[in-house]
Amino acid sequence: MMASSEDYTELFKLKENQNWLKVSVGLIFTKDGLKPYVEKTMESFKRRQGSNCSACSTATIVPCNKRNKICRSRPCKLHNGVKYCPCPINVCDGFRDSIIRQHRFGGPSWLNTNACDWCSNAWEVAKAFMPPDGYDTIKTSDETDLNGVISVLINCRLFENDIPDLANPINVCTKVRDIGKKLRHAPKLKVTDDQLKQWFGQMRALLLVPNHLAANTKAQDTVNTLNKLELDQLQIERKDAMAAINDVIPHPKHPDNEDLDENVIMLNKIIKSLCNDILQEVSENKKLQNGVVDFIKTGSKPLAWLFQKLLSKSMTTHVTNRSKYTIYAKYSFNGPEVNIANQKAEASATAVVGGAYGANGIIGRGLEYSAAAAFRTIAPGAHMAFEYPTTIKDAVYIWIYYVDENSEKQWVCEGLPKRPDYSVFVDQDGKVQNAKHGTLSEPADKK
Ligand SMILES: [Zn+2]
Ligand SMILES: [Zn+2]
Repeated sequence: MMASSEDYTELFKLKENQNWLKVSVGLIFTKDGLKPYVEKTMESFKRRQGSNCSACSTATIVPCNKRNKICRSRPCKLHNGVKYCPCPINVCDGFRDSIIRQHRFGGPSWLNTNACDWCSNAWEVAKAFMPPDGYDTIKTSDETDLNGVISVLINCRLFENDIPDLANPINVCTKVRDIGKKLRHAPKLKVTDDQLKQWFGQMRALLLVPNHLAANTKAQDTVNTLNKLELDQLQIERKDAMAAINDVIPHPKHPDNEDLDENVIMLNKIIKSLCNDILQEVSENKKLQNGVVDFIKTGSKPLAWLFQKLLSKSMTTHVTNRSKYTIYAKYSFNGPEVNIANQKAEASATAVVGGAYGANGIIGRGLEYSAAAAFRTIAPGAHMAFEYPTTIKDAVYIWIYYVDENSEKQWVCEGLPKRPDYSVFVDQDGKVQNAKHGTLSEPADKK
């Protein structure tokens, strides 16, 4: 039997593995907190270059010159016989020179960027400041990994106005960039409490540089989210875990020294196992399903990105168990008046399955979708994430029961209607409570 749903929580059960996941997810939040700021800065840089040209390509506007690192190879990988040709409307030569001037290390990544789009897409300009290769097909910041986004900050002088530390060889940005590398090479995906503290500190330090904080409207929000994540006050969504893992796995075009090391193999396994789970859970959403299938087949970065994008359109309801009983929970899309009898019958059937596999939370791979969505076992102190696509517009209905000392089934809630994305918990008295949105078991404010 293949292990299923709880695979990633199984792996991340050890404190030090959880630390690893927390730091990885912290980097995703940091990246998300930087993206609008980097976009805005590149957009105003683009606008200052003047009018629109889409006639020039990178190969025609950048002369083949051995001073460009990429032109040193023979035949030249960038030009390959294409000759320099000045911009017909006298825009792109100036644009090219501005990019060279703003590049801290004088060598824009010409292979990444297409000059055709410089005047129409500021992110195309940003790509000249990313690592030398592997970003050529990317069009937006959403598709870009942390290393790409943070390299723009490090390599482009424009950001020095807000983050003066960038003038130093080791600075607030290089420190955050290096966390990703350290995570990739962390033996057995373990991170100590000290490392965790240090690295969260480094993420915050970048966002809290005073001028940066003033210029980046998302910086303070990101710091608040990082604080919650570090203190375990935030539930890690599966989509964030996947995005984080995906970002840590190196791109095939810019591999780290040992790109096929044990960690990468392990992470690829986890991500595929998560995909398999989602396949079962979203069997009614063909588009999402096809995206997942493609990803499993090829495992390529662009598809992984597509997949995340689709996945980010899913929603989660968490059920946390703070009672002393083991609880059994499920969701449905029908209200209690429709199928209370069905659910109760299913609860009886699940009790048998629960006896066989439920104790350690592992559910057989061979079960049909309907069974996969059946009652899940949640031990005292544990929680379970129920994920479903946003095609579900109305309420979801939560069903929870526990078995008391007299072997009597006690229903905590029978078809409790909930807005998708809102979570509930079973309190110490065995009563169901609404959780404050975005938290696991903080009670919602009473009206
Ligand atoms: Zn060349
Ligand atoms: Zn031009």
